[in-house]
Amino acid sequence: MKIGIIGTGYVGLPTGVGFAELGNKVVCIDKDEVKIKALKAGKLTIFEDGLETLFQQNVRDGRLGFTSSTAEGVKEADVVLIAVGTPPDPVTKEADLHYIYSAAAELAPHLTGYTVIATKSTVPVGTGDEVEKIIRKNNPHAEFDVVSLPEFLREGFAVHDFFAPDRIVVGINNSRAESVLKEMYKPFEGKAPVLFVNRRSAETIKYASNAFLAMKIHYINEMADFCEKAGADIFDVAKGMGLDRRIGERFLNPGPGYGGSCFPKDTNAMAWMGKKYGAPLTLIEAAIRGNDLRKTKMAERILRQVQGIKQAKIAVWGLAFKNGTDDVRESPALQIVEQMLKNGARLCVFDPKAMGNASRVLGDSVEYASSELEAAKDADVLAILTEWDNFASVNLTELKAIMRQPKIVDLRNMLKSKQPERLGFVYQCIGKI
Ligand code: NAD
Repeated sequence: MKIGIIGTGYVGLPTGVGFAELGNKVVCIDKDEVKIKALKAGKLTIFEDGLETLFQQNVRDGRLGFTSSTAEGVKEADVVLIAVGTPPDPVTKEADLHYIYSAAAELAPHLTGYTVIATKSTVPVGTGDEVEKIIRKNNPHAEFDVVSLPEFLREGFAVHDFFAPDRIVVGINNSRAESVLKEMYKPFEGKAPVLFVNRRSAETIKYASNAFLAMKIHYINEMADFCEKAGADIFDVAKGMGLDRRIGERFLNPGPGYGGSCFPKDTNAMAWMGKKYGAPLTLIEAAIRGNDLRKTKMAERILRQVQGIKQAKIAVWGLAFKNGTDDVRESPALQIVEQMLKNGARLCVFDPKAMGNASRVLGDSVEYASSELEAAKDADVLAILTEWDNFASVNLTELKAIMRQPKIVDLRNMLKSKQPERLGFVYQCIGKI
């Protein structure tokens, strides 16, 4: 099949590479000329585990191409995927759909033959109707259908999730588009359930899923706070809860709060939709409030360790919103760093993959180190903010020798099993005294 993808970011690029690997002819389109130039030159624009090899192979084999021209990318496509951003409106926090609507208007004149337009971006209920109207207005004679194809991939695991999704949801309002989508997802037959539902249900499934996961994280975070006060251990509590299959063991790791480009914006957009439709989503609203507050509390927790120390140096390990990605959008780590900076802290930061993106946000307000140990040298406290595996394998004796004071605030519970207290560290993790 011939597939055009509009938007070559964290979703569009792995999706393009994935469909090319399955034998389709894929053209990834992006307005960002710098991105397209880099991709054409064989340089990946994001970090995703396992993406590089597949990307190079498929470009070499001529199945994957890049362009900044929508006309070129959409021409003769059987399916056009829209994977542009849907950021929150800065005031109302509802999803800003102007990228989606522009993409729809731009692609419309270039449709040739019957084409399925599939929205991969996370969009509020009813967006498919609007996209359909825009295409119709800009090309009254076009033969097309608009379907919702919500994306569930996790950053850091995008390649894995493309080839082994838990489920594929297709929101569709007629059978002609269904046969095209069945063909496109044929390689997944027997591997993942493909759920055909109506378009509005598919749009809702995406938000309902993300909001549920965000609430699960917030729930275990609050339970961790409770455990600290009540003398319980969140590790044991989470284990005991997770063994109940109705609850499940995943997403029960307490931390500094959920972040990233999806959960914060999608919870806000869902809460906004609840208000719009007169069906208040009070659990989601509470999670949003609690999660926002959590970042401040976490910064205070770290700052308490250096209270009264003149010119204290805080070492920060981890800036990405989670491990496996260079993405710092809505990263709890960055929000905590910014909060500490407001309080006059002196910081030296390190992240294995996100230094470039983080430095564009933090500028010269912090020092940058090129390794974990360099960041921790002469530090009065070390704060672990992202759960990179490397952090867990650090040599604690070496770490203690280079720090000015052996204090660790581990907001990802990375070092708990290594029992740093035994080596003389003042050690604080989450959910256990
Ligand atoms: P992104 O910002 O990484 O990429 C979006 C790209 O679209 C940018 O490169 C931008 O230049 C391009 N673009 C915008 N308008 C364009 C246009 N008219 N023509 C061509 N290119 C255009 O965004 P992302 O993280 O890939 O997210 C895309 C969508 O997928 C969002 O709705 C998001 O909520 C959803 N989503 C994201 C993830 C994730 O893990 N990042 C997971 C599931 C769903």
